[in-house]
Amino acid sequence: MNKLQLKNVSKHYSSKLALDNISCEFSVGIWGFLGPNGAGKSTLMNIIAGILKPDGESVVLYNETPVPQLGRSYRSVIGYMPQQQNVFRDFTGAQFLSYMAALKGIDSKAARVQISELLQRLELTDIAHRRISGYSGGMKQRILLAQALLGAPEILILDEPTAGVDPKQRVIIKNLIKEISEDKIILLSTHIVSDIEKLADRIVFLKDGRIVQQGAADELLAGTELESLYMRYFGDE
Ligand code: ADP
Ligand code: MG
Repeated sequence: MNKLQLKNVSKHYSSKLALDNISCEFSVGIWGFLGPNGAGKSTLMNIIAGILKPDGESVVLYNETPVPQLGRSYRSVIGYMPQQQNVFRDFTGAQFLSYMAALKGIDSKAARVQISELLQRLELTDIAHRRISGYSGGMKQRILLAQALLGAPEILILDEPTAGVDPKQRVIIKNLIKEISEDKIILLSTHIVSDIEKLADRIVFLKDGRIVQQGAADELLAGTELESLYMRYFGDE
């Protein structure tokens, strides 16, 4: 069973401490990261995605091997949906997905099959040949999610996947995440409680770069609403 481990992961941006000595182990399942803006969610996800270097003493291991040692092979097991939306505005949705598939080293025939399936599942087929610059926020989120799913990654990192998405599209995204979650490690960040209610198997509360609470969703939520847990940790935010 795949396993991702963080040991004493910290991150400074010059003198600002964004992550403070985080140790945590992620197994297969949906992990919801909940925390207010500035908690360190994106920093953590960028580090796990391998695109941001943590401070020197930090260790990230995938199946017991340090991620820097895995090099390219780590990239092929990662699907990453960044928080930033304004990318590849001049590409059409279909061009963007073909380009990302090529970067991931997926051969063009397999890419065509995967792209058409993903476009369909995310209800993007009709707009696949329109430029991304003309997409609504929800359409952009769905094309970014499609890109993250190319190559059936073992680890899926979704940074605020439902930001700026209307309720109907939110349901499409949440259902898809649930559907594909088998055998994957899914890390999903949000500041919106309802995003991970009924979706996450485990919930991690992040505040000021630290994990303030974590546990199985059903245990944390036994007799308590997630909203009131959120208020307990972040009520002053
Ligand atoms: P979140 O995703 O939970 O909103 P971030 O990881 O984006 O949190 O930010 C954590 C902290 O690090 C915040 O205080 C933020 O201002 C700071 N930060 C994030 N990115 C940078 C950066 N590139 N340079 C300096 N400070 C940053
Ligand atoms: Mg963020």
